Amino acid sequence: MKTVETASDRQVHQFPCPSCGADLLFEPQDGFLTCPYCGHKEAVAETGVQVQERSFEQYVNLRPEQMGQLAANALEVQCQSCGAKSLFVPPEVAGRCEFCGVQIVAQTKSADPIVAPEGVLPFSISQKQAGAGLREWLSSRWFAPNGLKHFAQPEAIHGIYIPFWTYDTNTTTQYTGQRGDYYYVTETYWERDSQGRDVQRTRQVRHTRWSAASGTVARPFDDVLVPATTSFSSNRLHALEPWDLPALRPYNPAFLAGFKAQRYQVDLAQGFDRARELMMGVIEGDVRADIGGDEQQVHHMNTQYFDTTFKHLLLPVYAGAYRFNGKVFQIVVNGRTGEIHGDRPYSVWKILLLVLVLLIVILILVIMFGDR
Ligand SMILES: [Zn+2]
Ligand SMILES: [Zn+2]
Repeated sequence: MKTVETASDRQVHQFPCPSCGADLLFEPQDGFLTCPYCGHKEAVAETGVQVQERSFEQYVNLRPEQMGQLAANALEVQCQSCGAKSLFVPPEVAGRCEFCGVQIVAQTKSADPIVAPEGVLPFSISQKQAGAGLREWLSSRWFAPNGLKHFAQPEAIHGIYIPFWTYDTNTTTQYTGQRGDYYYVTETYWERDSQGRDVQRTRQVRHTRWSAASGTVARPFDDVLVPATTSFSSNRLHALEPWDLPALRPYNPAFLAGFKAQRYQVDLAQGFDRARELMMGVIEGDVRADIGGDEQQVHHMNTQYFDTTFKHLLLPVYAGAYRFNGKVFQIVVNGRTGEIHGDRPYSVWKILLLVLVLLIVILILVIMFGDR
């Protein structure tokens, strides 16, 4: 691997093929850097580094000049339509926006520094495999508008690494609340029986005795995963789970050769706010268990977070978007499992046409057989 020092050197190839000089690209199917022209292959160099957690405190106030670069010759472009920023390394080009489908015409510039990724989950299925899966998926979509056929083209989806944060932290939470214990009281009541006589009966009635509760719970969290993109709905990204995070590799720019990466839109601190929301649900469960009883009310929780660390990860997605009737339709494919999720539009015209054909058939039947 050649390191490139200056911005004016940006055209220098990062991973030149030793036999023909073309750019080597990362090949998902075997995980080798591969020359698309002469077929030369070489292994991605082991960096000897483990995927490490970094101190949240240390990084949360990081100034841009203290941040790293994705690759020495990384370029950045911002979609003029949806604002998403993509990073890539030549010979990759800006192309069509993966998130909103417009052709990007904005000028590329040398990438601004970012919190460099700790780990990357490399693509393991190729664009060809993802495209074949997508065509099958499309053919099973009923009433899809013809515009969806855009996705049947080989270039309709493109490999892009999506940014995520994961957080590890230890928590202690002081709480106050109420514990409710059930008790039963025997009540007597009158009922009219089948012979019309009034008879006295008894029944058990449940009551709740409330008492004040307070205490402290502690819980460590490991790898709370938060998307650092806002270009996809969180539901869509959740649908792509699970990610085989144990297969995470230490970041190496070689994994990006032939792919794009999205710049994080949710920063380290905002990501931790989201992680706190996710953890709060778990902590509240702990508090309820600690209060015990049959019912609980939680009035107040005060949580301290300490020894918080994070990782910035890139996870592989094939993504594409296209516009139809002013709406954006997105398709995402998990770059490890091939699982596909996307908008499932219905063509009003195709449905109306079917209804019309059915009406005509009924009309013909009525005309032919109606007078008998
Ligand atoms: Zn070559
Ligand atoms: Zn866009």
